[in-house]
Amino acid sequence: MIPGAFAYHRPNSVKEAVGLLAQFGDEGRALAGGHSLIPMMKLRLATPAHLVDLAGIADLKGVRSDGNDVVLGAMVTQHEVVVSEMLATKIPILRETSLQVADPQVRYVGTLGGNVANGDPGNDMPAVMICLGASYHVTGKKGERRIAARDFYQGAYFTALETGDVLTAVRIPVPAVGHGYAYEKLKRKIGDYATAAAAVVLTMSGGKVASCSIGLTNVAETPLWAEEAAKILVGSALDAATVRRAAAAAEAITAPAEDARGPARYRTKMAGVMLTRALARAKARARG
Ligand SMILES: Cc1cc2nc3c(=O)[nH]c(=O)nc-3n(C[C@H](O)[C@H](O)[C@H](O)COP(=O)(O)OP(=O)(O)OC[C@H]3O[C@@H](n4cnc5c(N)ncnc54)[C@H](O)[C@@H]3O)c2cc1C
Repeated sequence: MIPGAFAYHRPNSVKEAVGLLAQFGDEGRALAGGHSLIPMMKLRLATPAHLVDLAGIADLKGVRSDGNDVVLGAMVTQHEVVVSEMLATKIPILRETSLQVADPQVRYVGTLGGNVANGDPGNDMPAVMICLGASYHVTGKKGERRIAARDFYQGAYFTALETGDVLTAVRIPVPAVGHGYAYEKLKRKIGDYATAAAAVVLTMSGGKVASCSIGLTNVAETPLWAEEAAKILVGSALDAATVRRAAAAAEAITAPAEDARGPARYRTKMAGVMLTRALARAKARARG
């Protein structure tokens, strides 16, 4: 399949990119790794007249510490997330998740910013960002702002981004030392999007859960923050009965599409199963 004709622009700064995107309005799209956008263009599901390539903007690259946060430039690739020792030490769920995104070929080019900005409920990183309490740095016509990942997703392919906005970075508060974590993803084959997936970050104290956050992937039009399920777990030793109640609470907020990955009821059930597995692995990894 061949995409429709488009003009290609390669700005050198965020300001220039925002100016171009604002000028083109609905006719323009930011291009990052292109591994979601170009397939959509080939299917003619997206037909932008102007592509604004972010690859030449140095400010969108790199990973840095900023106080208790880690800030990743939007153009950091999934591969760079995998190989970063700093990220593996401080926020290990990122490497675990990145390794489950697509395949190495896609990860070499696909970016973290593109993954979270895309708004596809099948993308893995948004639920992890919701779980971690991350926020997105966005620059637009009116200047810079930050949007919590938990407020960013509004519907399938609908986000808080407005025309002309560029997501410039992802800011993640570093979880406590000794935290437990896991990203459990059910997929039909290597490289597939999730049938259902669950991200867990928790801390334990005296054998009991002191804090817990849960994100769910691809079981609704948006990634989900399973706040009630996490609340049920706090104060427990993650005994089987409490975990069952939490899994039921997580399943209750899902509303998956019925597609080639299975009927809606199956995918809902798998969200609970993925959460149960993620909790067991997170507990085994947690200290305290
Ligand atoms: C075979 C295959 C399998 C895949 N499997 C998975 C998977 O299992 N899990 C998963 O999570 N993903 C998967 N993907 C998607 C892949 O991770 C994409 O790379 C990712 O979704 C988008 O990142 P990108 O950098 O390629 O963005 P692009 O495709 O360039 O852009 C995606 C969208 O985001 C917008 N955008 C990008 N960057 C910005 C920015 N900085 N500011 C504002 N808007 C921006 C673009 O305008 C576009 O609308 C798969 C892709 C392929 C081809």
